[in-house]
Amino acid sequence: MKRVKMVVVGAGVIGFSTAVCIAESLPFCEVTLVADQFSPDTTSDGAAGIMFVAQFPDIPLERQKLWFKDSFDHLLAIAQSDQAADAGVLLTSGCQIFREVPAQKVPFWSELVLGFRFLTERELKRFPEHCFGQAFTTIKCECSSYLPWLEKRFRKAGGKVQQRTVNHLQELGGTYELIVNCSGLGARTLVGDEQVHPVRGQVLKVQAPWIHHFIRDGDGQTYIYPGVHSVMVGGTRQEGDRRRWADPADSADILRRCGLLEPSLAKGKVLAEWVGLRPGRRNPRVEREVLVTEGNGRRVHVVHNYGHGGGGVTLSWGTALDALGLVKQCLREMVHPQARL
Ligand SMILES: Cc1cc2nc3c(=O)[nH]c(=O)nc-3n(C[C@H](O)[C@H](O)[C@H](O)COP(=O)(O)OP(=O)(O)OC[C@H]3O[C@@H](n4cnc5c(N)ncnc54)[C@H](O)[C@@H]3O)c2cc1C
Repeated sequence: MKRVKMVVVGAGVIGFSTAVCIAESLPFCEVTLVADQFSPDTTSDGAAGIMFVAQFPDIPLERQKLWFKDSFDHLLAIAQSDQAADAGVLLTSGCQIFREVPAQKVPFWSELVLGFRFLTERELKRFPEHCFGQAFTTIKCECSSYLPWLEKRFRKAGGKVQQRTVNHLQELGGTYELIVNCSGLGARTLVGDEQVHPVRGQVLKVQAPWIHHFIRDGDGQTYIYPGVHSVMVGGTRQEGDRRRWADPADSADILRRCGLLEPSLAKGKVLAEWVGLRPGRRNPRVEREVLVTEGNGRRVHVVHNYGHGGGGVTLSWGTALDALGLVKQCLREMVHPQARL
């Protein structure tokens, strides 16, 4: 029987998560993933990959909680399996500290991470500039391992991969019956969404194997995240800044700020600097649209899943499942006989 031809644009953590969810759940679909950049050259590759996210203003909280929970449960299962090392997914414990008590002392994800509690007075003595803190165990998902792991899983489910640049979704409308757009920052040009904008982030990898616990300043600017091979220290959040090169002034400032939180970092060796452009957007766009093709006026369903800002790794599996739900809705409307969903 003829299979439904579907394409996913994007090979970052959002594209591959979505492609895996679709290929594994809908075996009657032929899924091709296309992208111009693959691992190790995507933004996802360099992300710290800590499961942690700020609240988006216009998405119902219940939906955001579900995105977080679905992602956390999925990655926790990997972290506790024999796949953990291959996939680059690990549990990590540490704290977030604040100079002033935040308006929301208990964030929405507090019951979804493990062992959330406030820091004690004794623990806070280590950070004399800070007066409040939260301790918890979360997950670190290192995409330089996770993306190749997801790609293998996608191919095993029958998915195909193609390297190409897509200039307009119209180019895909002739070949595919359904398009899933996971192009991250690329959506700005691909679908002309001016809400998507770069938020530059610079980080350093430091050899400091004695550091085992993460520390994050509540302002989101300064963090120390120990990982599998090194400690990631950061960072910057520069709205609208497209510079992809490491700025020595930013590196010096990052080391200074992180050194105030963890003075032993001064003994660490800087291994690398990295810059990535987060796909900033007021809210992630996880929704459907219909594209009418220019040639023959054919109606092609499009599912968008992009604009995750600084929380793309954290929300990747949850938004992928949401996108899968939208794909199923489209298939029902296409009244596809195989779509017994
Ligand atoms: C310094 C830094 C630290 C971060 N830390 C964290 C963290 O701790 N936790 C967290 O959850 N998130 C973190 N993030 C955010 C996270 O990296 C992003 O939210 C996430 O990578 C977005 O994934 P994506 O798949 O949407 O985009 P990308 O990884 O950028 O992938 C986009 C894909 O689309 C393709 N594409 C785009 N346009 C086209 C086109 N026209 N034709 C073909 N292909 C196209 C690209 O080639 C690429 O394959 C961090 C980001 C930075 C920069």
